[in-house]
Amino acid sequence: MSDAQPQSYPEIRDAVRRLCAAFPGEYWQKLDRDRIYPTEFVRTLTEAGFLSVLIPEEFGGSGLGLGAATAVLEEIHRSGCNGGACHAQMYTMGTLLKHGSEAQKAANLPAIARGDLRLQAFGVTEPTAGTDTTRIRTFAKRVGNDYVVNGQKIWISRAEHSDLMILLCRTTPREDCAKSSDGMSVLLVDIREAVGNGLTIRPVRTMLNHATTELFFDDLKVPAANLIGEEGKGFRYILSGMNAERILIASECIGDGRFFIDRASAYAKEREVFGRAIGENQGVQFPIARAYVQLAAAAEMVDKAARLFDAGQDAGTEANMAKMLASEASWYAADMCVQTHGGFGFAEEYDIERKFRETRLYQVAPISTNLILSHVATHALGLPKSF
Ligand SMILES: Cc1cc2nc3c(=O)[nH]c(=O)nc-3n(C[C@H](O)[C@H](O)[C@H](O)COP(=O)(O)OP(=O)(O)OC[C@H]3O[C@@H](n4cnc5c(N)ncnc54)[C@H](O)[C@@H]3O)c2cc1C
Repeated sequence: MSDAQPQSYPEIRDAVRRLCAAFPGEYWQKLDRDRIYPTEFVRTLTEAGFLSVLIPEEFGGSGLGLGAATAVLEEIHRSGCNGGACHAQMYTMGTLLKHGSEAQKAANLPAIARGDLRLQAFGVTEPTAGTDTTRIRTFAKRVGNDYVVNGQKIWISRAEHSDLMILLCRTTPREDCAKSSDGMSVLLVDIREAVGNGLTIRPVRTMLNHATTELFFDDLKVPAANLIGEEGKGFRYILSGMNAERILIASECIGDGRFFIDRASAYAKEREVFGRAIGENQGVQFPIARAYVQLAAAAEMVDKAARLFDAGQDAGTEANMAKMLASEASWYAADMCVQTHGGFGFAEEYDIERKFRETRLYQVAPISTNLILSHVATHALGLPKSF
């Protein structure tokens, strides 16, 4: 697929593409079949420095902005690979960088940048609270120099493949807070020490290979020194990271969409039925062209959101709009690509059915489309809140 505009960060994109070429479809198909984590892929990306692009140079990273990180993730996804195994390190690190103490940053960020420490887990969602995060029940009670954590989380991805986790807990019951978003705190949990000492991790098998889990906390002790920022202000810290997360996920959708369009265009030119290439039929061409148009528009919004974020401006609404447009464009492209391939769209060896399953996630996680529309209605349009 030719890109309408010259793309940003051409050197980074080229280097990511070359790295991804060593991880072809067969690699992902094999892992997908058995739901195995792509350890080798993540290690290669880490060693090449791509997962530490956002870590400032003083802590050993590249000190680049979100625009560079979106280029990395987009190219991973366009190459047929999947960044879901490691993308969280990019945005969870921001919570530590923006709100952590100097001691916490010095102790962790250089090791993360070197690849000696993995910060891949982000623990927010709970089975009973759902999207209504203020209703989380996992509680961290201060006892002496520790917090003692009890509760449960669901859909916490990569917990089995991470050394550290950013964990959101209640430290004051909701009913005792002036605002429902007060009274939550962020703890940096050392998963290596926690497992077997109050933390149990149980994998959840899903329709895609995403290494997601349930977590059970039973009197887990976390040193009070691992509190990030101030007690009770954790919800704000998590929200600030969520804009980065939405923009980064949107860039993965753009990469997925480009993958589907590349594949569909190539197949439509090559596949002959009724004595001619199927791509000569407008009934086949137009859905590909429509996917291209939708994706180009979504990519502009992702770039705008990343630019605002990197300029330190409020990117909340743009981050949400970018995620919604990009996840819908990639889903349309996925559906189009299956249709263009006919029966072969369902064959494992073509990678299309795998990418189809993978890109579907992004209309639900990390935030579902209805909640984005609600944000736009209330924040951009001033409509009354419905919840
Ligand atoms: C594979 C996977 C990986 C994940 N990884 C992580 C992770 O690493 N860390 C983490 O913390 N979470 C993670 N999540 C959780 C994810 O962020 C949530 O699933 C997502 O935010 C939706 O929340 P929910 O599943 O609780 O849906 P619910 O909140 O139960 O909502 C269900 C449906 O109802 C709709 N809905 C709910 N309320 C309203 C309303 N008021 N108006 C209109 N519609 C409404 C929603 O849009 C949604 O479609 C992951 C999820 C999946 C599936």
